[in-house]
Amino acid sequence: MTRDTLEPTSSSSDVTLAQFVVVANRLPVQLSSSQGNEEWRPSPGGLVSALTPVLQSRNGLWIGWLGVSEHVDAPAVYEGIRLKAIDISKEEYDDFYLGFSNATLWPLYHDAIRAPTFHRKWWHTYKEINRRYAAAAAAAVAPGGTVWIHDYQLQLVPDMLRKLRPDVRIGFFLHIPFPPSELFMQLPWRREIISGLLGADLIGFQVPHAASNFSRIARRLLGAAGTDSILNFDGRVIRVGAFPITVDTAQIVALAGDVKIRERAREIRRDLGNPEVLLLGVDRLDYTKGIQQRLMAMTEMYADGQLVGGTHVLVQVAVPSRESDAHYDLERHNLEQAVSEMNGDHSLVGSPVIHYLHQNLHFDELMALYLAADIMLVTPFRDGMNLVAKEYVVCRTDLTGRLVLSEFAGAAAELRGAFMVNPHDLDGIKEAIGLALKAGPKEAKARMGRMRRKVLRHDVSDWARSFLAALQQGSPPPPLIDSDPL
Ligand code: UDP
Repeated sequence: MTRDTLEPTSSSSDVTLAQFVVVANRLPVQLSSSQGNEEWRPSPGGLVSALTPVLQSRNGLWIGWLGVSEHVDAPAVYEGIRLKAIDISKEEYDDFYLGFSNATLWPLYHDAIRAPTFHRKWWHTYKEINRRYAAAAAAAVAPGGTVWIHDYQLQLVPDMLRKLRPDVRIGFFLHIPFPPSELFMQLPWRREIISGLLGADLIGFQVPHAASNFSRIARRLLGAAGTDSILNFDGRVIRVGAFPITVDTAQIVALAGDVKIRERAREIRRDLGNPEVLLLGVDRLDYTKGIQQRLMAMTEMYADGQLVGGTHVLVQVAVPSRESDAHYDLERHNLEQAVSEMNGDHSLVGSPVIHYLHQNLHFDELMALYLAADIMLVTPFRDGMNLVAKEYVVCRTDLTGRLVLSEFAGAAAELRGAFMVNPHDLDGIKEAIGLALKAGPKEAKARMGRMRRKVLRHDVSDWARSFLAALQQGSPPPPLIDSDPL
């Protein structure tokens, strides 16, 4: 679909009211240009594929930002989904998105791995932008309809929307971790954030631990009554639960069987000099992902002979992310320094020990890498879920491959067959990589089989359906996973 052939988004006054509305920071489409032609394409990510069928079947509407500061006319409908764009200026983007969302909330919610920055101006803009999303949702939803709000950028929207439209059913899902009170209490606007979220009827988190962190804080700060899964506040009942997000399993299994992708996987190994063991890391270039710690552990393993240049080769994909933020710039600089030292110290001529790609790969190429890799390294300091770990497991249809996984990724609650690590423990990372290298094919197969059985039980559409069913029924959310690994 090209930009010229599209109808511009209708103003809210002439849009038929929607029974089902999704509110997320970004719209499910983005403008991309190839060979001088601008085209609307689906935004990457599981959320779009999970929600598209639900929205299509309910004639739903998606409210979000287009990802560009200047005004562009978004399509009114894309792939059967009605769209409503929110305008955000460059200055608002700096304060709301780069500032409060990604320099205050993001580090605070990820164990304060970097010190969160608190600025009143950022907070005021965060409130203002949340108000804009809430007003758009209030204008678009039909009487008694349902609104599903997503993620940390929009935590005030549930209560703002409830005040405007007390008749609608409101769900909220947080895609990132929710911190314990010891950290959360640092936030100068902690009461406002909690009461913002309590405007929802159902609040979903990735893991049970995050849900109980939230409920405890709601009781302590705002005097909400009740248990970790059902709270009473302001004369209403609010349900809280864990809904671990997952991947499009059928799509990944199909791609894993695609002859072209399998051939590409063989080609990758050939291009790398057919190493005995190919290790792989795939992360957004983010300080939460623990990439440098992982490289440090591997550098020591090359130095002490547990890994050997030419025999053991690492491919590290680091997807560019939030590049205008100084923390991310520094992270990239330090990472590239570490890559260069690792190669300088341990490579052979024609055979670098680490191949570093600072790129966002197409999903087919990523699948080929997953298929090519013997050991997948996923070692974040803290991660809401980590879909890369699940994607790797799902694509290993022949039950080969080993996963080294951080205890602090949400995915660890389900992927118990992984070689678990504490990413803060350098010796522990070395030990887990060592165990993954030594494990015989029988042990590796048993571990991978266990993980695949677990992940293949639900796909991303089940995730969306289970959240919406819990929101509709008003019953306590079903526990989808056993417990946290710690
Ligand atoms: N991804 C991609 N191309 C890349 C690297 C990653 O499309 O080059 C996708 C990957 O398939 C996964 C997502 O990006 O679905 C990353 O999700 P994850 O939960 O692992 O981390 P996040 O970036 O959301 O923190």
